[in-house]
Order: sequence, then C-alpha cells, then structure tokens
Amino acid sequence: MICPRCKTENGNRTVCSKCGYYMYRVANQNIEKRTSAQRALDDSKIVGKNVWKVLRVVWIGIVMLVLSFWIIALIVYLTGGSVILG
Ligand SMILES: [Zn+2]
Repeated sequence: MICPRCKTENGNRTVCSKCGYYMYRVANQNIEKRTSAQRALDDSKIVGKNVWKVLRVVWIGIVMLVLSFWIIALIVYLTGGSVILG
C-alpha cells in the first residue's frame, strides 16, 4: 500500500514505515464495494461532463469566430474598407 502522505510503498502494512501515517482508513475506502449500476452511473456522469467540456470549447470557438467576423465587418464599415483595400 502506498502512503497517501509521503507516497512510500509499505506493502501490506497499515502504518507507514516512513512517516507513521495510519493507512487503514484508506484501505477501508478501497474495500467499500460499489454495485455495477452505481459504477455505470458514475461513468455516464464522467462521460457527460466530458461532452459538456467539448461542447463548451466548440461554443467558445463559434462565439469567437462570429465576434471576430463582426469586429472586422465593423472596422470595414467604419473605415469604408480602407484598412483592407488600402
Ligand atoms: Zn508515509
């Protein structure tokens, strides 16, 4: 077992040989069993989060594209196209 405090590998020990950290709490958490249904639910949540992350990046990209288009259009309108056409 790896100590969560100092990352020392302690084999089957429940107390860290280096820093004396009690690791039985961590061991109990790992033993805690989850049903496959719960696991599937958690997985779908993670997938859903990733989808939203991707969608948000795509959305920001679209907004930036539209904004830059309008800014260029505004500059062209205000300057009568002299910036781009010379
Ligand atoms: Zn330790």
